[in-house]
Amino acid sequence: MPFVLHAVPCLADNYAYLIHDPSSGATAVIDVPEAAPVQQALTAQGWTLTDILITHHHDDHIGGVQDLRAATGARVWGAGGDAHRLPPLDHALAEGDSVTIGHETGHVLDASGHTVGHIAFHFPEAKLAFTADSLMALGCGRLFEGSAQQMWDSLTKFMDLPDDTVICSGHDYIKGNAAFALSVDADNPDLVARIARSDADRKDGKPMAIAPLSLELATNPFLRATDPRMKASLGMPRASDVDTFAHLRALKDKF
Ligand code: ZN
Ligand code: FE
Repeated sequence: MPFVLHAVPCLADNYAYLIHDPSSGATAVIDVPEAAPVQQALTAQGWTLTDILITHHHDDHIGGVQDLRAATGARVWGAGGDAHRLPPLDHALAEGDSVTIGHETGHVLDASGHTVGHIAFHFPEAKLAFTADSLMALGCGRLFEGSAQQMWDSLTKFMDLPDDTVICSGHDYIKGNAAFALSVDADNPDLVARIARSDADRKDGKPMAIAPLSLELATNPFLRATDPRMKASLGMPRASDVDTFAHLRALKDKF
C-alpha cells in the first residue's frame, strides 16, 4: 500500500510534509518549519512520528526539528556535508544514499543551487519527490549559495524522473511565480490554464506547493529553458540550456 501524504501548512507560506506507511505504521516528516502544526497534524491523523528528513539548513525548514525530536524521539536524517549547520543528525546522507520509511525506500539526490548541500528525496514506489527550495511549484529557489550550473544540474535530475512523479516543494509562492511565468511565456496555453485553475484550487484547500512533474515540465518557466520557443522569446535562440536558465533566474530576481 502506498504512502498517505499529508501536507501541513507552517509559518507564512511553508509546508511540512507527512508521509505515512499504513502497513508498518512508520511516519516521516520532510522539513519542520515549526513543531506545533506538525504535532497537531500527527495527533489528528493518529500517527506516531518515526523519522525526520531535512532538505537544507535554512531556519524556515529546520526551525522545529529539535522540539519535534525531543517530543517524539524520531530519527533525524540530513546532508552529512551540511552537518555543521543542521540540528544533530542520526543519519548523514549524500547523493546516492537511501532512506527507508516503513516498506518504502527513498533515494537521496543532491539538489544544490539554492544552498550548497540542499538535498531532495525521491520515493519511486510512492511517486513522490520532496524538492523543498530547489524545484518549486511554477518556480525554483533563489541562488543564495550555489551557481546557476549547480541549480540547473539539480533541475535536470528532477526532469528525468517519471512524468507522473508528484513534486512536493517547500513554499506556496504560486502568485509571484505565476506573474513571472506569464511575463516570459504568455503564449503557453498549459501555463494559462494552470494559472486560471489555481484560484479555484486554493479555495478548495489544495496545497499550492504540490504539482505533478508533467505539469511542471509544461508550465514551469525554468524547466522550459530547454524549449527553443522559450529561447527565441528571450532573444537568445542559440543559447545553451544552462545559459537560458541563468538568464531566466536573473530576470526573476529583478522581477
Ligand atoms: Zn531555503
Ligand atoms: Fe525556504
